[in-house]
Amino acid sequence: MRILIVEDEKSLADIVKKGLEEEGYIVDIAYNGEDGLYMAENEPSDIIILDIMLPVVDGMTILKKIRKAGIKTPVLMLTAKDTVMDKVSGLDSGADDYLTKPFSFEELLARIRALLRRNSEVKTSIVEIGDLVIDMATHEVKREGKRHSAFTKRICTA
Ligand code: CA
Repeated sequence: MRILIVEDEKSLADIVKKGLEEEGYIVDIAYNGEDGLYMAENEPSDIIILDIMLPVVDGMTILKKIRKAGIKTPVLMLTAKDTVMDKVSGLDSGADDYLTKPFSFEELLARIRALLRRNSEVKTSIVEIGDLVIDMATHEVKREGKRHSAFTKRICTA
C-alpha cells in the first residue's frame, strides 16, 4: 500500500512518514502543493493525505484538480482549520475524510485503514467468470453486457 503525504510542515510530514513506514506502508512526501499535485497526478497511490494550507498550490485546489482529472484515490484532508464550512467545502470538493490538527497518530491509522477497506470493498464487489460479470453488491449478473435474469434470481435466493 502506497501513501502520498502532501504537507509543508516538514517535521509533521516526516513523523507521519516514519510512523506509517513502521506500519508497513510505502510513503512519498511532497512538501509543497505544486509537487503534491504533480505526484498525485503522475504517481499512483492508494491514499493521499492532503494538507489544506500549502505554499504555491493549496490543498483544496489540488483536490479539485485531481478529481476533475478523474483520479479517484481516497483523500484524507488534514488541516489546522476546524470550522464547519471548511469541512463542508472539503467534502464537497471530493475529500473522503477529514482530520483536524493536532491529531493522534492512532486516529490517523484507523482512518487510513477505514478508507482502504472502503476502497477494496468497492473493487471486489465485481466478480468476472468467463463472459459473466457478477456484481455481488447489487446481485446483478450480466453476460456480454446484457443483464441475465435467470442467474440473477438464483444468486438472490442463494
Ligand atoms: Ca500546512
